[in-house]
Amino acid sequence: MINMSKVQTRMPMQDPKVRNQNFEEVALGYSPEQAIREAMRCLKCRKHPCMTSGCPVHNHIPEFIAKITEGDFEAAYQVLTKTTSLPAVCGRVCPQYLQCEGNCVRGKNGGRPVAIGALERFVADWHRQHAEAAEETTIEAKNQDALSDKSVAVIGSGPASLACAGDLLDQGVKVTIFEKENVLGGVLTYGIPQFRLPKEIVENEIAGLKAKGVKLEPGKTLGKDFTLDELLGAKGFSAVFVGNGAGKPMRLGIPGQEAEGVQSAAEFLAKANLEKVLPPAKNIAIVGGGNVAMDACRCAVRIPTAEKVSIVYRRSAAEMPADPGELQEAMEEGVEVLYLTGPLAVECAGGKATGLKCQRMELSEPDESGRRKPVPVPGSEFVLPADLIIEAIGSGSENDGVDGVALSERKGLIIADPETCQSSRPGVFAGGDTVTGPKTVISAMGAGKKAAKAIAEYLLTN
Ligand code: SF4
Ligand code: SF4
Repeated sequence: MINMSKVQTRMPMQDPKVRNQNFEEVALGYSPEQAIREAMRCLKCRKHPCMTSGCPVHNHIPEFIAKITEGDFEAAYQVLTKTTSLPAVCGRVCPQYLQCEGNCVRGKNGGRPVAIGALERFVADWHRQHAEAAEETTIEAKNQDALSDKSVAVIGSGPASLACAGDLLDQGVKVTIFEKENVLGGVLTYGIPQFRLPKEIVENEIAGLKAKGVKLEPGKTLGKDFTLDELLGAKGFSAVFVGNGAGKPMRLGIPGQEAEGVQSAAEFLAKANLEKVLPPAKNIAIVGGGNVAMDACRCAVRIPTAEKVSIVYRRSAAEMPADPGELQEAMEEGVEVLYLTGPLAVECAGGKATGLKCQRMELSEPDESGRRKPVPVPGSEFVLPADLIIEAIGSGSENDGVDGVALSERKGLIIADPETCQSSRPGVFAGGDTVTGPKTVISAMGAGKKAAKAIAEYLLTN
């Protein structure tokens, strides 16, 4: 029987006043009863736009949801694994409002879409808690018999690399992952905070690859510890996949940005997520309006000494690229948003940041990005007190060691075929943020899967 309620089944969450004091996961997940109730809202549409127009990897959404309504959660998980390698991750961090849920017919006429992400997360968590041991044994045995003599080196261990490695291992190829950090998971581990994506989820994905026989080389950097020539020569790899993300932060480009207390969101989040180190700041300003800015401001409110956390964004709420749900949760946790505000300079004393000089903006005509261009309001300058200023205005790629591979002139991104992920150098494939610039976890994962398919074909003839 279909549940015709226009509202979604609410997922339990930590109270904002409690959660802004801790790093535990904010959303607590559906119970089986809640998942079934929400799954009953799906109409099993014949054209299923959630899947065809919404999900970048075309998860079989009505099919996996139908299995939930039958209470067969393991079967639902098996449906998902036909198309996705990271359902527990995507169910948590995909921008569903733009993708699957943004295309769900239940979201029309004043209704709320089926909570597809929450259901995907439920199914993946259920599988992890109930079916893990039996499943991994089966995969390991299958692949040990089928391993071929071909080896592929995967650079980076974020979503593109994990997806690529997983699919190659499934096809019997030997895979070694090289990761420059000592901790694996790439942006999933050092970029996304624990309260949005618990590290155990990522560790579980990596454990799955270990069970399939992947070799892991953490603390190894391309261009420093080894080169592409060595990988494809003396080290004996038949192909390389580069999925090293886009971790090179863009700077504000304003006077005073070298002061102590100014840092990139990437640095702030990596220290918070990997080393559990939070600077003892009182007034924190985060410049930017994307999802990285949201992660940074929500980490900042959890600094025990924090008194005021402000987002500084030069356009209005309508242009803000952040996930509206994330923004809502940040504001519930005490983050203030200064819209139509642009940074002018960092105010310092003794080399340390004390404030961010800002000016009010107003919107004029749309610029090249299609968004209305912010222009300064004369005489509107003011100083926002800030002893920590976090730059969250985007990032480029760090492709210093990618020898012999064509890079884009402006951003240094790898140029690769969007369908095969083949770069300009034979045997070298690339996908995810290192090719596209910062995008979503699911688009990086999709690229990793495409690359695995193309690499397997390449290995048959090389
Ligand atoms: Fe939606 Fe992302 Fe899952 Fe696709 S992978 S169904 S976009 S949550
Ligand atoms: Fe179900 Fe919505 Fe997809 Fe239709 S569009 S099949 S209601 S999830």
